Amino acid sequence: ERVNPEDTVKIRTLGFGSSGKVYKVQHKKTNKVYALKIIQDKHEPAVCKQILTEMDILRRARNPYVVQCYGASEKGGEISFLLEYMDGGSLADILKSNKVISERYLADIAMKVLKGLDYLHRNKIVHRDIKPSNILLGRNQEVKIADFGVSTVLASTLAPCNTFVGTCAYMSPERFDPDNQGGHYNGYAADIWSLGLSLLECAIGHYPFISPEEKPDWPTLMFAICYNPSPSPPENASPEFKDFINQCLRKDPFLRPRASTLLAHPFITQYEVVPSSRAHSQQSGGRFWGNFTKALTSIFS
Ligand code: ATP
Ligand code: MG
Repeated sequence: ERVNPEDTVKIRTLGFGSSGKVYKVQHKKTNKVYALKIIQDKHEPAVCKQILTEMDILRRARNPYVVQCYGASEKGGEISFLLEYMDGGSLADILKSNKVISERYLADIAMKVLKGLDYLHRNKIVHRDIKPSNILLGRNQEVKIADFGVSTVLASTLAPCNTFVGTCAYMSPERFDPDNQGGHYNGYAADIWSLGLSLLECAIGHYPFISPEEKPDWPTLMFAICYNPSPSPPENASPEFKDFINQCLRKDPFLRPRASTLLAHPFITQYEVVPSSRAHSQQSGGRFWGNFTKALTSIFS
């Protein structure tokens, strides 16, 4: 079902990103609620057309762990996307409120993001921008990957590295390698690095490559990502979590496991409820998420 962004009215602002603004909107006819993302940079007509064509391909990506795109439009060089609305905010919002997330929740979040990544990778789509603000939560146990639709054209015109606020902080070492500029690096492995770094940040409460007080300039940070040892999980973390993170953060992209392999990692599988009865496992899952939802509600209310 294709929905035109122009047939909606704004309800409120949801957030700002480096590329534009996101609004909560309502469709005039159906009253359905969506998120509207407006990319504020103006693009040449030819570039717009190319972006919209690619968006049309990406619009067909359908998976329970990927935020659905319902439509895109262009007006005077400004591009808008109509997205599935996620009422729990992002992992970045939780981090902003100085919360850390326990391993039990992180394992569930990791499993769902890995399922989304596995789907995208199987369809030969590299996300390129996995980070806490692009992992969205719903009050109903949902965890979904957002912004995978930042298509290749858009990604190259938005030049993620022009500001420190941009996305480079979650980029894997090999993506800074000038010899890799032709796209020879394994892009799938780059997504796994970004996921590992994002999960580690949620576990320790700050961006892992630097201590919370530090404010390094961009070249210093890039140097650290490329040449420092990868950050380690805290001493008191479980062996399963430590191993999971260490595998995601292997410097050599060829040594990083695929999403499908990581789904079988003990950190993920240890929490799996053996389905003695379907109703029972759903119930206990509901209780677990109930607490998390309560925590979320207290953050956002
Ligand atoms: P960047 O521009 O570097 O990618 P970002 O991911 O924070 O950073 P946006 O993608 O523009 O920027 O998102 C801004 C904020 O809007 C997010 O942090 C999130 O809280 C909110 N948001 C984005 N998409 C949705 C959505 N589909 N449903 C609900 N909230 C959303
Ligand atoms: Mg985003």
